[in-house]
This record gives sequence, structure tokens and C-alpha cells, in this order.
Amino acid sequence: MNILATEYSLRHKALELYVAGCKGPHCPGCHNPETWSFDQGVPFDTVTKREIETKIKDFAHMIDNIWVLGGEPIDQDRKALEELLSFLRGFRPVWLFTRYELSEVSENILCHCSYVKTGRYNEDKLVDDNVQHGVKLASSNQKIHRLNN
Ligand code: SF4
Repeated sequence: MNILATEYSLRHKALELYVAGCKGPHCPGCHNPETWSFDQGVPFDTVTKREIETKIKDFAHMIDNIWVLGGEPIDQDRKALEELLSFLRGFRPVWLFTRYELSEVSENILCHCSYVKTGRYNEDKLVDDNVQHGVKLASSNQKIHRLNN
């Protein structure tokens, strides 16, 4: 599994971590086709772990949550994703953003997450008012689930 990028979201007080790769069939109208390839970014390993930890500690006062996005996190190597989520939850509550439904995500993944955004981007169901847990979602079919972790 490769890490494509990290960003700070001041608005959501979150460190955003993007994993590289999203398997087809892709969502029509996807705004991030540059994230589809698995063959980009840097491997998630001990070096990247240290770098992520530094990013969290350097701006600890600005980060309430850690968001894991893609690409598509659930299309990643399952063991590597579990390791990433387990590592991150040691610092802050983890939010996982996926196009899959909650029933399609394994318990080994969910147990590390405090929030999970589900549902694929659907350009036929675009809305302006789907705000859940302070996050605006693009289409009406998408949800954010609060988990008991
Ligand atoms: S899951 Fe995300 S990255 Fe993949 S096609 Fe859909 S919107 Fe694009």
C-alpha cells in the first residue's frame, strides 16, 4: 500500500492521508482520477510511519482527527490497511472515507475507526445539504456512520 499525499485540513482540524489506488468500476464523474493508480506515492513502512508521526506531533494543536481517504482505502492490501489504521488510532480518532457500504467493510477494519463515510460518488444524486458530523457530502446516498470505537 502506498501513501499518495498528506494534507492538513484547517477547517476540519484533521490530518488527511490519501492512499494511492482505486479499482474500477470507477464512479462516473470522479473528481480524483489522478488517485486511481496504485503505482505512485511512497510505501507505507517504518519511514513513512515516522514521518506521519512527526506531522501529527508538529501540529498537534491543529489536529483533532485523522482522515484516511483515497483513491479507495478498502481496495488496498487488507493487512497493510489494518496496520495503518491501528497505527493512526494511537494518536487521534480515525475517519475512514470509502465508496463501499458499511456491510462490505470487514470488522478488522471497522474496529480501528471512529467514523466511516460510505457510499460511492453519484453524479445523479448531487446535493448541497447533505452535512453529517460537520462534513459536507457530495451525493444524497452517502452517509457518515459513528462507530463505538
Ligand atoms: S471511489 Fe473515490 S477515487 Fe474511486 S472512482 Fe469513486 S470517487 Fe473516484
